[in-house]
Amino acid sequence: MNTELLPITTDSLRRAGALIQEGQLVAFPTETVYGLGGNALDEQAVLNIFRAKERPVDNPLIVHIASREQAFPLCRWTDLADTLADAFWPGPLTLLLPRTALVPDVVTAGLSTVALRLPDHEGALAFLASCGRPVAAPSANRSGRPSPTTAQHVLEDMAGRIPLILDGGISQVGLESTVLDLSGEHPTVLRPGAVTPEQIAMVAGSCEVADSVMRPLQADERAPSPGMRHRHYAPQGRLTLVQGHPDAVAREIGRLYDAQPGARILAMHSHLALYGDRPVSDLGLDAADAAHRLFYLLRSFDAQGVPRIFSETLPPTGLGLAVMNRLARAAEFDIIKV
Ligand code: AMP
Ligand code: MG
Repeated sequence: MNTELLPITTDSLRRAGALIQEGQLVAFPTETVYGLGGNALDEQAVLNIFRAKERPVDNPLIVHIASREQAFPLCRWTDLADTLADAFWPGPLTLLLPRTALVPDVVTAGLSTVALRLPDHEGALAFLASCGRPVAAPSANRSGRPSPTTAQHVLEDMAGRIPLILDGGISQVGLESTVLDLSGEHPTVLRPGAVTPEQIAMVAGSCEVADSVMRPLQADERAPSPGMRHRHYAPQGRLTLVQGHPDAVAREIGRLYDAQPGARILAMHSHLALYGDRPVSDLGLDAADAAHRLFYLLRSFDAQGVPRIFSETLPPTGLGLAVMNRLARAAEFDIIKV
C-alpha cells in the first residue's frame, strides 16, 4: 500500500473523511501526539488499527470526538464529566465512563468503560468533523516505540501500512493525554498527562492517582490501564535514569558516559554546564519543555543507532509526573539513586 503524506487542506480533509467512512485508517495530528484513526463504530476498521500498530488486542483505544454531544450515545455521561469537560475540553484529558452497547468490544478490549477525548487541535477537529463519526485512535507508532510527535515519525512506523497521514507539524504537548477514570467512587488518574492531578482536584474536588503510575506492575497484577502493562515508550538503546542532587547526578552520568562509547545524555537546560564539554541533549527549562521534547529526542537517538542513554529525572509533580511516568517505563525502571 502506498502511504500519502499530505498537509491539512480542504481536499486532504475530504479524502481523509472518505477513507474513514470506507473503514480505512488515517493518521492525524493532535496537541498530544499523532493518532492512528479508524471508524470507532466499525469493528473491522478497529481491528485494522491493532494490526497496523502490531498492538496487543487487550490494550483499549481512545475514542476521539468533535463535540461533547458525540460522546452521549457512547457512554453514561455524568455531571462530573460535564464539569471536567467544561474545564478541560477541548484538551489533553481522556475521560473513562461506563460504555453503551454501541461501542464495539474491540475498542474497549472488552472493558466496561470507554475512553473519550475531544482534542485541542484545529487540524484534529477538522479531521474529526470530516469523518462525521467517532474515531478510535491510539498513538500512531508501532507498538512499543516512542509515540510520534511529527508526521515524519508516523511515516517511519506506518509507511506501507496505511493510505494517508495528515501533516499538522510538531505536536505541542508531546506526551499522550491524561487518562482519568470516572467510573469509580473518586476520579482517578490511570495515566498522567498534561492535565495534572492538581488541576483536576481543583475542579472535581478530589483526584487520586493510581499507584501503578510510578512503579512497574507485578507479574500477576491487573493493570488499571492496560497500556501500562506493556513495554512502552522505549527507545532502541538501553536507557538508565540517575536520580539525586544535580551535582551528584551529573558526576555519575559523566562517569557512566565516559565509559560507554556512543552514549547520549539527557539533561535539563539549567544543568548543562555541570557536564563540562560532553555533548548533552537539552530537555529544556521545565517539565513542559521536557514533555514536548522527550519522544522527539528518543526517536532521534533511534535514527542515529544510539546504543546507550543516560538521563536526569524530574520532580514528579505537575507535568513532571507525566514525564517521569514515560521516562521510567522507557528505562524499564532502571533507576540509579545517588
Ligand atoms: P494510546 O493512545 O496509544 O496511549 O492508547 C490509549 C490508552 O488509553 C491505552 O494504553 C489504555 O491504557 C488507555 N485506555 C483506553 N481505554 C481504556 C479503558 N477503558 N480503561 C482503562 N484504560 C484505557
Ligand atoms: Mg500509545
